[in-house]
Amino acid sequence: MGLEIKDTCDNCIGNIYGEAYICVHECTFCEGCTLDMFNICPNCNGDLVKGRNQLVFVP
Ligand SMILES: [Zn+2]
Ligand SMILES: [Zn+2]
Repeated sequence: MGLEIKDTCDNCIGNIYGEAYICVHECTFCEGCTLDMFNICPNCNGDLVKGRNQLVFVP
């Protein structure tokens, strides 16, 4: 079990329901905050992508 996604948003410190977005440094944000920040991580200016979807191996 290497990858782990936090269940709380780094911005609003709320629980994330539904999609979580992460940046390359694994900062984690909820969808609402991500949209507010235009998919750019405020900590490292990296792109925020849907984290949970990336953990799923799609054949
Ligand atoms: Zn948030
Ligand atoms: Zn970041």
